[in-house]
Amino acid sequence: MTSPLREIQLFSLLSPTIALIFAMALFIAWRQLRQHRYILILSLSFTAFAAGALSQILAIPRDIGLNTVSSALLYTTAALGIIEACLARLKRRPGLIFTVPIACVIIALIAYFFYVDRNLLIRVYVLNFGYGVLFFGAALLMGIPRRQRTTDVILFTAILVFGIQFFLRTLMTTDSSIAGLDARSFSATMFWIALNFSLILFGVILGLTFLTAIVGDVIRSLNAASETDPLTGAVNRRGFDRLAAAMQRDARQRPMGLILCDIDRFKQINDTHGHPFGDTVLTSFSELLRQNVHEGDVVARLGGEEFAIARPHCDLPAAHAFADHLRRAIEAAKPGGILVTASFGVAQSEPDEDLGTLLERADTWLYAAKRGGRNRTVSGHPEVAPAGLEPVDAP
Ligand code: GH3
Ligand code: MG
Ligand code: MG
Repeated sequence: MTSPLREIQLFSLLSPTIALIFAMALFIAWRQLRQHRYILILSLSFTAFAAGALSQILAIPRDIGLNTVSSALLYTTAALGIIEACLARLKRRPGLIFTVPIACVIIALIAYFFYVDRNLLIRVYVLNFGYGVLFFGAALLMGIPRRQRTTDVILFTAILVFGIQFFLRTLMTTDSSIAGLDARSFSATMFWIALNFSLILFGVILGLTFLTAIVGDVIRSLNAASETDPLTGAVNRRGFDRLAAAMQRDARQRPMGLILCDIDRFKQINDTHGHPFGDTVLTSFSELLRQNVHEGDVVARLGGEEFAIARPHCDLPAAHAFADHLRRAIEAAKPGGILVTASFGVAQSEPDEDLGTLLERADTWLYAAKRGGRNRTVSGHPEVAPAGLEPVDAP
């Protein structure tokens, strides 16, 4: 074997080596994050790619036909796995209905143009254009990222460009002279070198982007868990402080509405029906609030049986009406067959006021609602007599 050919072989080994390194890193990540199955799929896909490349480079199996078909099968499995992992990560529907038929056509054509009508150039076109269609289609299935997360945008772009380069690179580096080459001369062509270069480049880009995306996903899920109340699934006090303060900063032009609500005589419910029953009341109460709010509202459990709802662009009359709608919905819901009511205190943000002051005012009206007889909604502006304290029928 001449020395340039040895260099080329060594160069060919780079892409499977890099793929195996990423497969290992992804496998280690998956062992810690078993709930994210897409990480395992990715690890297996990188392994399948490395196995395909190694089987070609090391000529295992020796039989050329078998080698051609089995390496194509491994490459195709890798492509399908990467596409499924991308879709699963974004919680999209599996793309198998689209990818499996294309994969079968690729493998069948590869076998045909080896065993029936032997033509290396056509096999090159089948593999490269086939993967181009697969990855281009994958980008369409993933869709342009809606929330502008950098890793999502990079991953989408990488998959799209990966798909497109299969067409451009192949057309730019192949001609009919390839058709009759044997394996050894083939691995010295510009096509083979450009293919390996692109596989190394995209292998590194995809591997690093996936690992970065995994770190981002983990941080986001930890943040979400640290701001969620485990019993009711509502936002907890910590999350409320952050989200409501951000909402208030955006409320300089149009006020936000803040509703505090506290279940009436909840201690009695616990005492009469038991603490576990009390917990189910809290859960259905939280569900009911969350079912009734709009997107952009924040529903939080501030503690015990006290909840808060923050709604952007909502003045006092609108917030009062919404709170009273919730009050009636709760009264009608009868969780576990018992009457549960709640009292509401409603305030609207004033310019240049902090969240503490806004909460204090809503709490004053909530306290007034309790003293006024419970199961009622009280709201008011600072320094103005509140609305909602007119006598109502006792619950
Ligand atoms: P009020 O109408 O004045 O609000 O009366 P209340 O009985 O609802 O208020 P109080 O503050 O006296 O009692 C609140 C009760 O809520 C006491 C506490 O044991 C109960 N509680 C707090 N957190 C939980 C919880 O997570 N689960 C259950 N089941 N009970 C809880
Ligand atoms: Mg209470
Ligand atoms: Mg309370």
